[in-house]
Amino acid sequence: MDTSPKNEISFILNELAEERELYFNAVAPPIVQASNFAFKKVEDLRKAFDNEMSDYLYSRGLNPTVDILRKKLAALDGAEDCLVFNSGAAAIFAGVFANVKSGDHIVSVKSPYTWAQRMFDVILPRFGVSTTYIDGTKIENWEAATQSNTTLFYLESPNSWDFAMQDLRAVATLAQSKNILTFIDNSYCTPIYQNVMEMGIDVAMQTATKYIGGHSDTLGGVLCGSSAMMKKIFNSEYLNIGSGIQPFNAWLLLRGLRTLSIRLERVSKTTIEVVAFLKHHPKVESIIFPFDESFPQYELAKRQMKGACGLITIILKTKKLEEITRFCNSLQHILMAVSWGGYESLIIPKCAGIKVLEFNPENLDHRYIRLYVGLEEADYIIQDLEQAFSAIP
Ligand SMILES: *Cc1c(COP(=O)(O)O)cnc(C)c1O
Repeated sequence: MDTSPKNEISFILNELAEERELYFNAVAPPIVQASNFAFKKVEDLRKAFDNEMSDYLYSRGLNPTVDILRKKLAALDGAEDCLVFNSGAAAIFAGVFANVKSGDHIVSVKSPYTWAQRMFDVILPRFGVSTTYIDGTKIENWEAATQSNTTLFYLESPNSWDFAMQDLRAVATLAQSKNILTFIDNSYCTPIYQNVMEMGIDVAMQTATKYIGGHSDTLGGVLCGSSAMMKKIFNSEYLNIGSGIQPFNAWLLLRGLRTLSIRLERVSKTTIEVVAFLKHHPKVESIIFPFDESFPQYELAKRQMKGACGLITIILKTKKLEEITRFCNSLQHILMAVSWGGYESLIIPKCAGIKVLEFNPENLDHRYIRLYVGLEEADYIIQDLEQAFSAIP
C-alpha cells in the first residue's frame, strides 16, 4: 500500500508545487509580477515560441505564481492539468468555445449559471452553435435531446438556486458511448466535496471567486481536465482572449486555498444548524437544501457529494412581494449581495431580478430567497434571521 501523503488534501494545500528553495525558502510563494521573461539563447527562445506551454515567455501564457496555483487545483480535482482564468465566466467561455464549431449542438441543463446561459442564447448562435435545455435530473432527457451533431453536454450539479442535480456517472457514461464531451460547472461543491473527474466527467469548471478565494476580494475561474484538453484550450482561447488570471490574483487564491478545507468544514456545520432553525420556523413554507431529507434528490446527493455547502433557498409562507422585500431589508448583519463562498453571510431574493409587475407568487421560484451561510457563529446568523422574521406578519 502506498502510504505517501501525496493525495491528501493537506499535502496539496500546504506543500504541492511549492519549490521554496527557488525563492529564498520563503514560506509564502512570491508574486512574480512580470509580463515577460528573458532568454540567453536564440535556441531557447525558439523552443518557447514553438510550445508556449513549455516555458515562461510572456505572462498571458505561463507565469510562475499562476503555475503553483494550477498544480494545486489540478491535484485537488485529480486531473492531469488545469488552467486558471480571471473569472469563472471566462473559464466557462473558453472551455466551451474551444470545444464547439459551427454546426454543433449542445445539450445543457436548464437554468445554468446566468452567463453560461447568455453565451448559449446570444453568442454561440452567431457562430452556428445551438443549445437545447433539458431537465437534467432525468438521464433519459439527455438521451432524448441528443442529436447527430451533439458534441457537448453542459452540466451544473448542483445548480446554485434549486440545487437540481445530475447523476454524473450516468451522464458521463452516456456521453462516452456517443463520443460527446462532458463539461461541468462544479462551483457549488468544489473538488473537495465532489470529485467529478472520478465520475468520468471530461472538463471540470469552478469559479474560484467563491470558495477557493473565500474572502470576497478577487475573482477567478478554473478549468481542469486532461493535459491534451488543457493544451488545446491554452493554445487557442486562453492565449487569444487573454483571460488568464493575473499573478496577484493567483496569489490571493493560493492564500485562500490554505484554509479551503477548514472553511468548508465550518460552513457545512453551521449550515446544518441554520437549516434546522429555518425548517420548523412558522413563517417558512419550505427550504431547499441538498442534504435535507425533504430534498427530491437526497439519495443522489448523499451518494455523489461528500458534503453540502452554505447555500440554502428559503420560501416564506407569505406570497406578498412587499413582505418578502421587508424580510430581506430587515436583516442587519447578513449582507444583501450577489456571489457567495466568502467569509460573510449573504442574502439575495430572486424577486430583485424580476420587474415588479412581472412578479408572480404562483411561480414558486419568484419567491426564492437564497441565503449563503458564511463563517459567523450559527447563533449570530439565526438571531439576525429571527429579528427579520419578526418584521413580517
Ligand atoms: C459565480 C458563479 C459563476 C461565475 O463565476 P465568476 O467568477 O463570477 O465569473 C459560475 N457558476 C456558478 C455556479 C457561480 O455561482
